[in-house]
Amino acid sequence: MRAPVLICPTITLRAYGRLCCAPRRLHCHGSSSQFLNLNLSRFSRRLLTSFFHMEFQSGAGSSGKKTMVENLKRYGVISSKRVAQVMEDLDRGLFVPAGSSAYVDTPVPIGYNATISAPHMHATCLQLLEDKLQPGMRALDVGSGTGYLTGCFALMVGAEGRVVGVDHIPELVDMSIKNIEKSVAASLLKKGSLSLHVGDGRKGWQEFGPYDAIHVGAAASEIPQPLLDQLKPGGRMVIPLGTYFQDLKVIDKSEDGSIKAHTETSVRYVPLTSRDEQLGGF
Ligand code: SAH
Repeated sequence: MRAPVLICPTITLRAYGRLCCAPRRLHCHGSSSQFLNLNLSRFSRRLLTSFFHMEFQSGAGSSGKKTMVENLKRYGVISSKRVAQVMEDLDRGLFVPAGSSAYVDTPVPIGYNATISAPHMHATCLQLLEDKLQPGMRALDVGSGTGYLTGCFALMVGAEGRVVGVDHIPELVDMSIKNIEKSVAASLLKKGSLSLHVGDGRKGWQEFGPYDAIHVGAAASEIPQPLLDQLKPGGRMVIPLGTYFQDLKVIDKSEDGSIKAHTETSVRYVPLTSRDEQLGGF
């Protein structure tokens, strides 16, 4: 494997501009501070990370993902050993379309106007939810797409936990199941502690709730009430909110049911919407 190459800020920003701001559609799933809001200090850590955007010339499975995780650690995106371990264990290479760069820190189109999020976004969400992804806990992944993050959740909560992925595109759900079947999370799928379903994720998935952790992988204009209802007291939801300008919101439900929210960073995700609207373009 060749050594990782650090792309200089300007080139990275230009590259993101091209990739993320395609004329008709936005497939970012990355921190929008990569190309917006450059003067906002609260995003400084994220900016630093994005300035030192990682690019790997290796497509090799185990070494590629190890290097990816090493870089995410080096630039402060990953601080948790469990998050590092799960991102090393679950090979992103099994989840991206053939021929795509699996270990480059960028979102990748997966068809149906959707993308697999950039590794730094997966890492960020795993970090934010880590306390609610302890062995035996329950997690819901809305807009599960490729199933990568759903698989990470399943590995973290283990066989005694319960993880549910929901996406409204049947072909993506089929693909995510096939991806998981090839991965280290296959046994959890087989045993039933992980399942992937076709459905409108705005309704959540009541059957296995309430959930300690809810992740939403597409941007909503407001938090869908069923998701708040299905969040366990003491649980945490991570959800991008907004339309063009979006914030990654962290929603904590206290034991008495009251809700506290804070903004983690600025992001660009595809919309949490109806199937027709998604397939028709936005
Ligand atoms: N976390 C996924 C992200 C996939 S992109 C990954 O990294 O692979 C966002 C996903 O949200 C798409 O797969 C899209 O189909 C899905 N989505 C958008 N609106 C939805 C809705 N209302 N219900 C379920 N899934 C939805």
